[in-house]
Amino acid sequence: MPCFASALPTRGARAAAALAALSLAALAPSRALAQGAATPLPADTAPIRVIDPAFMDTTVNACSDFFRYANGAWLAHDTIPAAYSSSGVTRDMSDHNEVVVRSVLDDAVAQRGTHPIGSTPWKLGTFYASCMDSSAAEAAGIAPIRPWLREIDRVTARARLVPEIAALQVNGVNVAFRFGPDVDPHDAAHYVASFGQGGLGLPDRDYYTKPGASADSTRQAYVAHVARMFTLAGESGARAARDAEDVMTLETSLAQASMTRVEMRDPAATDHPMTAAQLDSLVPAVSWPRYYRSVGLTVPVPRANVGMPAFMRRVNSLLVAAPLTQWRAYLRYHVLAMAASWLSPAFVNEDFAFSSRFSGAKQLLPRWKRCLRETDGDLGEALGQAYVAKTFPPEAKARAKAVIEDIRTAFRARIQRLSWMSDTTKAQALDKLARMRQKVGYPDTWRDYSRLVVADGPFVLNVAHANAFEWQRTINRPGQAVDTTEWGITVPTVNAYYDPSKNEMVFPAGALVPQTFDPNADDGANYGSLGGSWAGHEQTHGFDDEGRHYDAAGNLRDWWTAADSAHFTGQADLIVQQFDGYIQVDTFHVNGKLTEGENIADFGGVLTGYDALERALARDGRPGLIDGFTPEQRFFIAYAQSWRVHNRPERLRFRVTVDPHAPENWRVNGPLSDDPDFATAFHCRPGDPMVRPQDSIPHIW
Ligand SMILES: [Zn+2]
Repeated sequence: MPCFASALPTRGARAAAALAALSLAALAPSRALAQGAATPLPADTAPIRVIDPAFMDTTVNACSDFFRYANGAWLAHDTIPAAYSSSGVTRDMSDHNEVVVRSVLDDAVAQRGTHPIGSTPWKLGTFYASCMDSSAAEAAGIAPIRPWLREIDRVTARARLVPEIAALQVNGVNVAFRFGPDVDPHDAAHYVASFGQGGLGLPDRDYYTKPGASADSTRQAYVAHVARMFTLAGESGARAARDAEDVMTLETSLAQASMTRVEMRDPAATDHPMTAAQLDSLVPAVSWPRYYRSVGLTVPVPRANVGMPAFMRRVNSLLVAAPLTQWRAYLRYHVLAMAASWLSPAFVNEDFAFSSRFSGAKQLLPRWKRCLRETDGDLGEALGQAYVAKTFPPEAKARAKAVIEDIRTAFRARIQRLSWMSDTTKAQALDKLARMRQKVGYPDTWRDYSRLVVADGPFVLNVAHANAFEWQRTINRPGQAVDTTEWGITVPTVNAYYDPSKNEMVFPAGALVPQTFDPNADDGANYGSLGGSWAGHEQTHGFDDEGRHYDAAGNLRDWWTAADSAHFTGQADLIVQQFDGYIQVDTFHVNGKLTEGENIADFGGVLTGYDALERALARDGRPGLIDGFTPEQRFFIAYAQSWRVHNRPERLRFRVTVDPHAPENWRVNGPLSDDPDFATAFHCRPGDPMVRPQDSIPHIW
């Protein structure tokens, strides 16, 4: 449950890795971090501040549109760079972080010869250098992946189909269904084998099923794109067109059996523990012991969680009855889709042109940025150590931890004060809060990359090796104890998350810099941004419409009395209605149900962050006005500026389908117009747009 809208989904690799999360297979020995003095940042990064008064438009009435009041001057002058789908906080912070990461990677390339071949520093330099070698990618064309396509051509008997699917999944190709270990919902101390829906080329099942001219046009564009990819791979125009229709047919069938994102928000809906015999009777077309062997499983799998049984039934019928020509076209396309961004420019450009339909970006990111992001995704903990040494001194970590701990204290007091919640439920909620783990900055134990294969040569093969490494690192986890030291996000990332099955919040160093947080900034600024929109937000995820179904240990268990549960649902429905009423873009409304958890987290974050600020002011003393504002006003300005984002309309249209986060202007104006402390701070009155009527304000946390 990250707090920022994610970028376009990466095809194949990362998406598969997300489900096939992580393993003990190669448990790394703990390595002490070289905690040198922080080196100054390169000079070409503009300083970012937690609050920048120059971004504000104080001619806007704060009680009418606070998002614009806090960010209006910036919005009026901002132009989204051609290679981006949005600009603002995340881009500014990422740009800043990427300059640091680039210096780490440039050093790794320059010093490659000084490290033993096969050592992790050598791998880091070799991986990035092989990505940057664009002329080699151009010269190689499709050659690096031709052996894979030939393997698929050999699927001429149905018996070869599942082994081929398994081989592709191991290399990070998103085909048929998702499989991997996950935390067991009923025994959160151990992993369980898990199945999920997957295998689509468009970003969501709704793109296949939605009626209407706009959806029709996206589907036609997709089929044309798939056909062009086949043509680039050497097929004749007629065959490419036929194959593209086959891909669409097979994927549409998978999509029709897939759950919607709203349906999947209910953890009980994706909780279907099965024995091996039950799995056999659900999907008899697959010999599961043979499949498990093909994907590298060496431990027994007596039971599994099948997230979407109806979807797996559909996979079964397609395995039995869909023509093999259709399957071969489908598998070939997914190999091309996984590889396209690292093949010759014709593939890269075709892949970009289609994805820009969803992002609105007008040109490719520079190659170094694309390579840097891929390297961070695949070898993130190898470069994270150097990143931390350059940017995240121990003092910053200590101060950030103190703010996050203050947020926990403030939330504890809020829970104790709740008049609607019974003592029985409160005791459980307080226990869950007390046991919520916080990870701040960087992992205590860094990942061991000794089994990762990296070689000079085509970069696309290094990506496949990295996918296979991730798969093998985690695949034998079923039945093993959950690794609580592991991080699901890399250190330079500008994001954070709460994981209900581990009951933990994770804040990487990359997010703990301005604009989120500055150890030298005033409390109003830090508690509004890091406190409210980050820590308070993630913490509340433990108690949102999804998170509340998990207990302190991470088990899926109902710890609520019936009356408390009913109260929560009734109040949460008010938030759903509130956001259903907001316009996302054009005539599309925000999907209140899809964004429910994030909106609850935002509201809880604002309330808790504010409480924590008041406690800090009482403890440390009140400063005078800063830039003409009280600490309380600065709290709300910092909160609003932490959502300073400017989106292209294509991205907003894409987000309305896939993103559980509402647009940033509503993430500010929504919760603040429900908050009486906001109205007091800015002297807003009943009837002002930023003051919603009392009876529509939710009372949850
Ligand atoms: Zn969130």
